Amino acid sequence: MADVEHGVAALARRIVFLGPPGAGKGTQAGRLAAVRGIVRIATGDMLRDAIAQGTALGKQAAPFIDRGGLVPDELLIGMVGERIGREDCRDGFILDGFPRTLRQAEGLEQMTGGTPSGFVVFDIEVPRDELLRRLSGRRLCPTCQATYHLQTNPPATVGVCDRDGSALVQREDDKETAVALRLSEYDARTKPLIEYFRARSRFHSIDGYRPRDVVFGELQGLLESGP
Ligand code: ADP
Ligand code: ADP
Repeated sequence: MADVEHGVAALARRIVFLGPPGAGKGTQAGRLAAVRGIVRIATGDMLRDAIAQGTALGKQAAPFIDRGGLVPDELLIGMVGERIGREDCRDGFILDGFPRTLRQAEGLEQMTGGTPSGFVVFDIEVPRDELLRRLSGRRLCPTCQATYHLQTNPPATVGVCDRDGSALVQREDDKETAVALRLSEYDARTKPLIEYFRARSRFHSIDGYRPRDVVFGELQGLLESGP
């Protein structure tokens, strides 16, 4: 479990990205982590890694992910609790894709000493038809997890990762049937977290239906403006 007394500076560096699949959480969280030097904890990436490595966690998680469901809370709480407790998270972390249920949010409170007031929460909102366009065009590097989009962010060479030359793939759960379930799981189980965090944290609703750089500029500005 993470140390409770991380200090004020560390609290301002605890950031949560909320938002439906395809909203741009990974895009923005990745850039924020790189620019500000904060660890990014992307639970989808961690689970996909676990599946690729054939770990026990990966084997338990795979059937839920492939069909577009949520992986059971206790697995996620254990995985994130272990990750947050590591030394590189002492000065803060960015959560991308966690929590996704109220039970997970309560788990997060417990693992960080009951201080959701110290979190900055960005809820990225994007209209549903645009989410569908983003998800259907998303392509992923299975090696480094870099994300592309066929139309709006293509790699330099078609189908090949700019960073490491791997062949890009479409995530199984970005196909139509799984996407429908993911969006309904978001509505039923993740959306209630908006009210949860609005009542407890520094909460910002972000219009994600704008160019990447514009969204990123707003996030940076909000973080600069302090608590
Ligand atoms: P999430 O992590 O919320 O599922 P991603 O960051 O993976 O979302 O983005 C989903 C897809 O949309 C990716 O293909 C990404 O390149 C693209 N995308 C991200 N942000 C934008 C944006 N502001 N405008 C257009 N496309 C975007
Ligand atoms: P997206 O970027 O499209 O929002 P992610 O890459 O974050 O999706 O997650 C992919 C899948 O991994 C989810 O659909 C779900 O099956 C599983 N997953 C990731 N994070 C969680 C979580 N916090 N709780 C339950 N399942 C999760």
